[in-house]
Amino acid sequence: MRKILILFLLSILTVSSNPERETGKPVLRVLLFRGNPTRATKDFSQKQNNFIVRDSALVHNSRSYPIQKKEISFTTESYLCINGYYFTGNFTLRLINNYLEIINNTPLELYTAGVLAAEISSSWPMEAVKAQAVATRTYAFYKFLQNPKKTFHVNASVADQVFSGTWKIDAVFLQAVKETTGKIITCNKKPVETFFHACCGGETEKPQDVWQTSTGLIHLQNIQCYYCRTHPKFSWTNQLPMSVLNKLFSPVMKPGETIDNIRILSRTRTGRIRSVELAAGKRKITLDGNQFRLLAGSTVMLSLKATIAVRNEQCTFTGTGYGHGVGLCQWGAKTMAEQNRTYLSILNYYYKFIEIKNITDYL
Ligand SMILES: [Zn+2]
Repeated sequence: MRKILILFLLSILTVSSNPERETGKPVLRVLLFRGNPTRATKDFSQKQNNFIVRDSALVHNSRSYPIQKKEISFTTESYLCINGYYFTGNFTLRLINNYLEIINNTPLELYTAGVLAAEISSSWPMEAVKAQAVATRTYAFYKFLQNPKKTFHVNASVADQVFSGTWKIDAVFLQAVKETTGKIITCNKKPVETFFHACCGGETEKPQDVWQTSTGLIHLQNIQCYYCRTHPKFSWTNQLPMSVLNKLFSPVMKPGETIDNIRILSRTRTGRIRSVELAAGKRKITLDGNQFRLLAGSTVMLSLKATIAVRNEQCTFTGTGYGHGVGLCQWGAKTMAEQNRTYLSILNYYYKFIEIKNITDYL
C-alpha cells in the first residue's frame, strides 16, 4: 500500500479564517484521507508533528479534541501534507464506523486551481489551461449537485480528479481560473460530467463503451482527434511476467489457478477492448475491458486501444493513447491551443451539444 505521509504544521488551531478563501462559493468537501485512525496515528506522529490523532481524538499541543461522536472542524493558515501535496484552509475530521475521514473544505474556484496543478503543466498555453479549468470546475460542480448529503463531494484521488491542494499554486493556474470564473459546461441546460484523459490515441470513446453504467451522456461522442500524436505515450509497449499478472488477477481467480492465455473477445467501434477472456485450466473467465485494465494496472496497460499477447511466461501489452479516452483529450487540447485555438473552441471540439453557462444560474 502506498505510504501516506502526513505532516501537519499548525500555527493556530482555532476557527479563525482567511476571508478571501472563505468567500468563494460553493464550498466543496474534498476527501483527502479515509482510513484506520491507528494507521493515521502512526503516520501523523512522524516528523515532529504538533498534531496527532490518538485514541479517537485530535491532540494538539497536549490538548485533546475528541472526535468520537462529533466531528471537529478547524482552519489553519499553515498546511497539512498528504502524499507530497500541501493542503490548507478549512478541514473537517470525523470518525465514521472507526474510519477516520479528513476533509478539506475548499471553495470551488480554489479547488479548480488545485486540480490544474496536479493535472497539467504550467508551461502549457493559457487557452489549454483555461479549457481544463472549465472542464475541472464543471466536473466538481456536477458532483457537488449529485452528492449534497454525503460527507464529501469528491475524492482527492484519481477516483474523481487529482487535487494537489492549495498551499502554493502556480500563478498560471490561478490566472486561468480567474479568467474563466464561474464558467461551466451544460447540455440541455444541465451541468454535465466532463471527463478528460491524457491522450486519446486518435479518437475519443463514448462513456457507455467504457463504463456500462454511463448512459445518455450525449455530450460525450466519438471524436476524431488529430492533435495528440506528439504525446510521449501515444504509442507504447509494456510487459509483465505472468507470475506478476497472476497475482494482480487473484481477485477474480480461484486459489491455485493460473492464467494460461488471454483472448480479446470484442472491441468497441473505436477499437478499444470491450471484453476479455482469461483461460485458467478448463475455466474461462470473462471480464469487461475496463475491469481488465484496472486489474492489470492502468500505468501498465495505459489504454484499452491495445493488443495483449502471452508468450514465454510474459504478457505484452501494446497500444496507443493514455487513459480511458472519454471526453477531453488533454494533449489534444494543448496542441490545439498551440495552434491558436481558443478554450471555447477546444471545449466545443471535444464536448458536443454544449453551452457554457455561469454557475450562479444553478446556485
Ligand atoms: Zn487525442
